[in-house]
Amino acid sequence: MSNIHEKTDVILIGAGVMSATLGTLLKELAPKWEIKVFEKLDKPGEESSNEWNNAGTGHAALCELNYTSEKADGSIDISKAIKINEQFQLSRQFWSYLVESNLIGNPQDFIMPIPHMSMVQGEKDVAFLKKRFEALSNNPLFQGMEYSEDPEKLKEWIPLIMEGRTSNEPIAATKIDSGTDVNFGALTRMLFDYLKSQNVEINYRHSVEDIKRTSDGLWKVKVRNIGNGNIEYHIAKFVFIGGGGGSLPLLQKTGIPESKHIGGFPVSGLFMVCNNPEVVEKHHAKVYGKAKVGAPPMSVPHLDTRYIDNKKSLLFGPFAGFSPKFLKTGSNLDLLSSVKPNNVITMLAAGVKEMALTKYLIQQVMLSNEKRMEELREFIPNAKSEDWSIVVAGQRVQVIKDTEAGKGTLQFGTEVISAADGSVAALLGASPGASTAVHVMLEVLQKCFPQQMKQWEPKIKEMIPSYGMSLVENPEFFNEIHTSTAETLGLIEKEHAVVEKELVFN
Ligand SMILES: Cc1cc2nc3c(=O)[nH]c(=O)nc-3n(C[C@H](O)[C@H](O)[C@H](O)COP(=O)(O)OP(=O)(O)OC[C@H]3O[C@@H](n4cnc5c(N)ncnc54)[C@H](O)[C@@H]3O)c2cc1C
Repeated sequence: MSNIHEKTDVILIGAGVMSATLGTLLKELAPKWEIKVFEKLDKPGEESSNEWNNAGTGHAALCELNYTSEKADGSIDISKAIKINEQFQLSRQFWSYLVESNLIGNPQDFIMPIPHMSMVQGEKDVAFLKKRFEALSNNPLFQGMEYSEDPEKLKEWIPLIMEGRTSNEPIAATKIDSGTDVNFGALTRMLFDYLKSQNVEINYRHSVEDIKRTSDGLWKVKVRNIGNGNIEYHIAKFVFIGGGGGSLPLLQKTGIPESKHIGGFPVSGLFMVCNNPEVVEKHHAKVYGKAKVGAPPMSVPHLDTRYIDNKKSLLFGPFAGFSPKFLKTGSNLDLLSSVKPNNVITMLAAGVKEMALTKYLIQQVMLSNEKRMEELREFIPNAKSEDWSIVVAGQRVQVIKDTEAGKGTLQFGTEVISAADGSVAALLGASPGASTAVHVMLEVLQKCFPQQMKQWEPKIKEMIPSYGMSLVENPEFFNEIHTSTAETLGLIEKEHAVVEKELVFN
């Protein structure tokens, strides 16, 4: 059975944090537009956006060492850190607007304050961290960052990591209290609740199978109703492909020239989760280390306090790995079916260039639990195997494309690919990821709705006051915004005993 439905203004494919953010922005900017969502799973935020499938770090470059590189002259390049911090400020402002306007509920259901720390060992890395600290702490966006090599101070900051440490190697850390833990799964669900209340038609258990342009320039989306097997066709003026790892195959189906010569490389992830509440209690920070030589940037090891299901947890990882699936719930044929005549050379070139990465991922897949414990013990020397178990995280599909650096270059960022006429856009890649969803979805609006942007600008500025301006160049405005969003989102670090007490009562 098949049936054709009436035309709608917007179709969002996928119910992850990206579609949730775009849908919410559009509802505020063009309330009369009709929006339909198709999601193949039975709930929102079940793939990468789910709280157990990502690390929940509000990426603001406060602790991630891969956002600050050392230049040939030995100085530290902080331009990427500034860019990511500014992007995160957009998310904070939009979320604050939603809370203040009562469009979503209690912010502590999705965001919690937690110190962000970087930690390194060995003379070379200690020297790097010190230089990084000097470069960042003079910048208005990173105010309040502290640095220490003093073991007594470090015992205060990270008792669990310092306990039982026998090595004489120098160790150093930075700490900044304005970091966050974000439950992107909860945020996605809250945004979808809001969209539902605004009469957005949300269709779960509906898998999008094809997207084709109609003769009058609209898009015909073929959808399979998983419940009854029926095929439906929906027509829209604008389609956003927010399928996470599943976006690339759908983008390829549109046939737009911009979808050619692009491939995807899936990287899977595992976290170790601590089951012992006494150990969990001893740690209160997100502590990022340095990536191992040859490791991709997204596999930087970190030990994280997380707030999930109103409970404090402790996770370590991620351990990267290889699986040919593009989604955690995907198929083993995903990678193979994404190879098309127009991207086969790009894919092969990447295969040749990225031998070191392939080797690294294979080694990671082969790691035994005891080997993983050894990596954990670099953070927690006294870690006991019986206190830790494994959780499988989400899939990240890294973009492969031809760039100035050559054919088949692996990209580690996110990319918005859109048709020249702005009628369809897809989001590929997964880093820095959900933290910068607002920035990325504003990019979708700019690319796809250039005619409406002028009219929308006052509302965008009401929601996101720093829209279109540089915060690093306006430090007073940054302070104002940082303080007001911290108040609205409840991010003023309370004594952590108080936070925990509140969690118990919730
Ligand atoms: C291990 C790991 C750690 C991470 N850590 C962080 C972090 O600390 N901080 C951070 O900011 N980001 C992090 N990320 C990235 C972040 O999780 C993602 O960028 C973000 O969740 C992507 O959201 P999305 O909406 O694009 O995709 P998803 O959340 O994956 O949603 C896509 C949805 O589309 C649906 N879908 C796919 N294909 C179809 C189809 N054909 N028809 C219908 N529905 C379809 C899927 O079922 C899914 O629900 C991490 C990711 C991973 C994997």
